[in-house]
Amino acid sequence: MDIGIVGLGLIGGSLGLDLRACGHRVLGNSRRQETCQLAVARGIVDDAGVDLTLMAEAEVVFICTPLSVIVPTVEQLIPHLQPAAVLTDVGSVKTPIVEALTPLWPNFVGGHPMAGKAESGIEVAQSSLFAGRPYVTTPVASTPPAALEVVEDLARSLGSRLYRCSPEDHDRAVAWISHLPVTVSASLISACISEPDPAVLSLAKQLASTGFRDTSRVGGGNPELGLLMAKYNRLELLRALQTYRGQLDQFIAQIEREDWSALEQQLTQTQQARPDFLEFD
Ligand code: NAP
Repeated sequence: MDIGIVGLGLIGGSLGLDLRACGHRVLGNSRRQETCQLAVARGIVDDAGVDLTLMAEAEVVFICTPLSVIVPTVEQLIPHLQPAAVLTDVGSVKTPIVEALTPLWPNFVGGHPMAGKAESGIEVAQSSLFAGRPYVTTPVASTPPAALEVVEDLARSLGSRLYRCSPEDHDRAVAWISHLPVTVSASLISACISEPDPAVLSLAKQLASTGFRDTSRVGGGNPELGLLMAKYNRLELLRALQTYRGQLDQFIAQIEREDWSALEQQLTQTQQARPDFLEFD
């Protein structure tokens, strides 16, 4: 198959490596010429260029640009596409993207490969990034079943675990397990650095070990990703944050009241619930 990738960063580059390894011809497009050259040199794509004309040869095109430029990128891409081309995106938020792109291109399928890294850019693209990871498609009533099948077959060939849901359910679910954790983890770091005594703050930094490493990891990542999640999944993130604030208040009340049995009950419940979220990890 001839496959186009627009946006040769971490996700686009990693997709290119795997799709080429599967025997597809991969055509790339990216904003900067250096990125296109590096993509060819690293064997991520067969050919790449900064203008979209190359995409006229593609039967399927993956849009892998940052969330904020997915829609304008597709608007520029459409005049170049073959009429039967299947278009899909990899954006981490689905409702606004699917709502905007479905009327623009009938053969559009929303998607989200749920794998990543702290770093971004083509330099950190790697093979098998998606193997064993969830790949969610978010079809709507008008999504052609044949286009959905094409995208799901390609996702399956990456070794991903396939899921299908509505864009709205996707956004609510990822608010809980991806976007809320970023905000919670970031506020944890903010709270720690607000320690007023410099000697205590310095001691805390020296004593921080694996627990702090685990809980601060997603809050200490690329600020642009956190910002885009909040902007594009604003309502679901706010809903999750408000529920989380309620949970924090409950912990505070239990500790203030010295209600150790209620606290123990809650911690037992969370200990029992956690493995269900990590069953496939
Ligand atoms: P990334 O590494 O920063 O790659 C995005 C690439 O898009 C850049 O390398 C850039 O290429 C190109 N690009 C084209 N137009 C651009 C513009 N106007 N501004 C900035 N870059 C532009 O990002 P990524 O992590 O691969 O994320 C890409 C998409 O995947 C996003 O929609 C994101 O929501 C989604 N996603 C990310 C993750 C994750 O954990 N990172 C996971 C799943 C899905 P040049 O080098 O040519 O400038």
